[in-house]
Amino acid sequence: MRQYIYGPFNSRRLGLSLGINILLNYKACSFDCVYCEIGANKSNKLVSPKFRIDNPPTQDFRKELKSILKYVPHLKSLSFTGYLGEPTLNNNLLDFYNITLDVRNELKWDKDPPLITLFTNSSTLYLEEIRERVKHFDLVLAKLDAATDKDLRTTNRPHKDCPGIDTLADSLVKLRKDMPNKKLAIQCLISKSYRDDFSSNDNNENIERLAHLIKKINPDIVQLYSIARIPSEYFVYAIDENRKKEIVKIFRKIINNELIEINYY
Ligand code: SF4
Repeated sequence: MRQYIYGPFNSRRLGLSLGINILLNYKACSFDCVYCEIGANKSNKLVSPKFRIDNPPTQDFRKELKSILKYVPHLKSLSFTGYLGEPTLNNNLLDFYNITLDVRNELKWDKDPPLITLFTNSSTLYLEEIRERVKHFDLVLAKLDAATDKDLRTTNRPHKDCPGIDTLADSLVKLRKDMPNKKLAIQCLISKSYRDDFSSNDNNENIERLAHLIKKINPDIVQLYSIARIPSEYFVYAIDENRKKEIVKIFRKIINNELIEINYY
């Protein structure tokens, strides 16, 4: 039975990928996003961004990785995902990374070796020790759904210890500078709400401010997407393709930098 790895699966954003889960068998996250697909259940743990999980890789991690990788020589990404929450909460993130790098370098690949990719909700990046770990990954996909404190509170519902939007954006600017030879993607999940008393992050102020923050962060890639599975809250739903196109247009106009690739999914 596999303990750490799931897939391979075809990711719309990354191509053929293998998912790596380095958290324990319950959800642990510093956010409680309204659209979270892991869902709100009894094992849901909202934790401080300073909370650490000591879960070092066992010998099984290397074995599991090797035994699966030999069957997928055309893999595009080895992805440390938010399968059960925020991966940077694991104190042993770099131990997992180093084994993955080692195994990747030992094997033969059809073309380029797969990227070692990290998904993060960005809430821990204000801590230098976390940026020091994260900067090693080939590609970091960092969440930024909100550009105002109000939207951060309503959409991502962070733990009370999480930084506000200015600190969070500054930490992404710092991370960009810390990893000059690696790639940074900013991921924005935009959703709508059925409830009149709940303002979703699809509001003009948030969208325009997001574009300005992204311009300042200067990532390589921007990925706009929406809800694709069952969200944790019944009152949010996905924006449609036309709205995604409109938002991309706003982003392109404000960001005004052809070196930044802006895609929607
Ligand atoms: S950051 Fe990811 S895992 Fe955490 S609540 Fe949001 S969607 Fe779920």
